[in-house]
Amino acid sequence: MDKETLEAAFEAGQDRMIEKWKEFLSFPSISADAAHASDCVNCATWLCDHLATIGVQSRLLETATKPVVFGELPGAADAPTVLFYGHYDVQPVDPPEAWVSPPFEPEWRDNRMYARGAQDNKGQVFYVIKALEALIASGVELPNIKIFIEGEEECGSDSLAAQLEEWKDLIAADVLMVCDTGTQIPGTGCITMGLRGIVHFTATLTGSKYDLHSGVHGGKAPNPAVAMARLIATLHDDEGHVLVDGFYDGVVEPTAEERRLANEVPFDAAAYESETGVEPAGGELAFTPAERIGFRPCLDLNGIHSGYGGAGGKTIIPSVATAKISARLVAGQDLGAVLESIVKHLQRHAPPALHLDISDQAVGGPGLRLDIDSPILQKAKTILRELTGKDALLYWEGASIPIVASLQRVSGGEPLLVGFGHEEDNIHAPNESFSIEQFRSGFIYVGMLLSSF
Ligand SMILES: [Zn+2]
Repeated sequence: MDKETLEAAFEAGQDRMIEKWKEFLSFPSISADAAHASDCVNCATWLCDHLATIGVQSRLLETATKPVVFGELPGAADAPTVLFYGHYDVQPVDPPEAWVSPPFEPEWRDNRMYARGAQDNKGQVFYVIKALEALIASGVELPNIKIFIEGEEECGSDSLAAQLEEWKDLIAADVLMVCDTGTQIPGTGCITMGLRGIVHFTATLTGSKYDLHSGVHGGKAPNPAVAMARLIATLHDDEGHVLVDGFYDGVVEPTAEERRLANEVPFDAAAYESETGVEPAGGELAFTPAERIGFRPCLDLNGIHSGYGGAGGKTIIPSVATAKISARLVAGQDLGAVLESIVKHLQRHAPPALHLDISDQAVGGPGLRLDIDSPILQKAKTILRELTGKDALLYWEGASIPIVASLQRVSGGEPLLVGFGHEEDNIHAPNESFSIEQFRSGFIYVGMLLSSF
């Protein structure tokens, strides 16, 4: 289907799409909150039924936690298979009082849909489904299509990753299509070329049995707060380079072309500072911000707690100090091995008089780096150029979509990550929204892509 036909289909169907989209958004499918478990199941069931109404055979796949909505639409016998991945679960809404309209009562204001999940990921899932509906109705020839929409992405997809092997034949595909990303510049198409993986854990340093009087014990008892500060300080040098042995193991240098493309995405340091309130001065200063995010792993302290933080003074030597630590790792790195290296480093540098305990160790999905020369990427670039009138940007993302690398491995599908999110959509924050223009762009992109195989 060409661009003009899809535009006309969108104009004609827009009002009905918005009504159905509102229904989808009205389920409080918050995966992290056990109180919403049945809302997640109800949302999955609704989605499954909705897919059936547009002509896609669908069912729920049971998992240890939230069901997966799985749909199939057979294409021509020799056609390739496209597996579409998305998620119907959403982030919690806190703080509820910050929402202008209630998060699960979708509201249409100034050509934007306001609701939790309006963009991430229900909005982006829904333009895919609506484009597919238009294609099916038109009778155009399509590839084999498989739809896999999960319900635990926002809490890490852990149990799902473990279960994927069971569905190896069911999800086998040539292309793995994901629309859970955004564009760096509104109005310009953007293809996500990489994702980082994540590991995290808690480190606790314990000294005395109880907080000690700093006059009686100061200078005599070891201080866990000071020791934790010193221990954390051993992790990086002054240039932001990580000093843990083995931390950079497996990192693959970008090619000159990848580096050039990554640095071609405009980055405005002043705009970054005015938005976040801080200069982009963290991490390995030897690399540009795009290279630091896209091609380098990083090690962060997410929180540090010890002793007294209330009003006035309290002269103690705290008995315990806690640090929450995470690392974002790149494709090629062994997440478990790097996590072990960090733990060993802390054990080696912790003072012997205190007890170091490591807990809550978590290993997420691995990093991902895609091939800049692949045919499917060229196809997406051509479509995005036709859609926007500009060359698409290639972007190596610093964040993670936990399941993508595992889905790639098990399904055999080559990932293609194109989404239409913007910074202003406020995903994971109050007043999340998605504009009609973004939805429309996604609809036309998906329509053009799926009819191009
Ligand atoms: Zn999200």
